[in-house]
Amino acid sequence: MSGMIDLRSDTVTRPTLAMRQAMFDAELGDDVYGEDPTVNRLEARAAELVGKQAALFVPTGTMGNTIGIKLLTTHGQEIICESHGHLLNYELSMAAWFAGCLIRPVDTADGILTWEKIEPYVRPLGPHWAQTGCIELENTHNMAGGTVYPLETLDEICHEARKRGIGVHLDGARVFNASVAQGVAVSRICRDVDTVMFCLSKGLAAPAGSILAGPRDLIERGRLYRKRLGGGMRQAGVLAAAGLLAFESMIERLADDHENARRLADFLGSLAGVRVVNPQPATNIVIFDVAETGRTAQEVSAALKEAGVLMNPISRAALRLVTHCDFASEQIGAVEVALAAAVRG
Ligand SMILES: *Cc1c(COP(=O)(O)O)cnc(C)c1O
Repeated sequence: MSGMIDLRSDTVTRPTLAMRQAMFDAELGDDVYGEDPTVNRLEARAAELVGKQAALFVPTGTMGNTIGIKLLTTHGQEIICESHGHLLNYELSMAAWFAGCLIRPVDTADGILTWEKIEPYVRPLGPHWAQTGCIELENTHNMAGGTVYPLETLDEICHEARKRGIGVHLDGARVFNASVAQGVAVSRICRDVDTVMFCLSKGLAAPAGSILAGPRDLIERGRLYRKRLGGGMRQAGVLAAAGLLAFESMIERLADDHENARRLADFLGSLAGVRVVNPQPATNIVIFDVAETGRTAQEVSAALKEAGVLMNPISRAALRLVTHCDFASEQIGAVEVALAAAVRG
């Protein structure tokens, strides 16, 4: 919302002026016929960045996950997913609706699954069991506070899954944040997963769009699922143009968002009654609990809004803040003043 400091999500980022110009100038065609040169360039560049054979431009991350899961499963299977995962909690049960699969949730404290935690839930087909069709990982993990998978953990899960013929889908909505935080290429993070989705519309600041990438044969089938879901977008090059620019100009600067999140987490930790769930945020998300202040998260959110700062409650006791390119370090002082007053009541 204009005039407000908006830390509800990194989805609120608006396209940069350069992106708007690139959108204006974009060369266009009908993408359902495969004839939009800008979409074709975006898909080729995206595939290269994540180190996969092919990529598909989809309107939303939810559609990318929906198609990714569908490609790795058959009807009546189970999908292993961390219990606070986006796929399970915020995608309108698309895994059930479109792929016909049940999600088998696995609890963790920090959103990061390990093979040790996954293994007990892996099921063969049996008289009482549905077979595990795929494993879904979220990197960074949104509701755990932007946590990042250690590479060894990711590699081990993929290795064990592959041995058993189980696919791995990465919900990498914010995988570029993980890459910047770890100082490793996105292609290295994605090396052993079968399919990966990432969002152009979050920290990368494009107005809309996500990418699903993977092996060529799967992505070709994914193209049909995209059409079936209503995601054939015709002159989508106007959006792809912004995405292409995002790759050039919006990745490295994510480090600034991470630094701003760390500064806000430090400040929150100094406030009486506030417990920061992830006191050392790895990326751009901070979750904090206000129960001890005697105020609910809804009350704190409302007080912040009065002071011109937007943050969403995520439960009765906790709020989430997300830093992004439309939030500058110069605004941290104003947020701190608003936070201190809002938790004091
Ligand atoms: C935002 C997000 C998505 C996709 O969201 P859309 O709004 O459908 O683009 C998927 N997974 C995670 C972890 C997200 O944060």
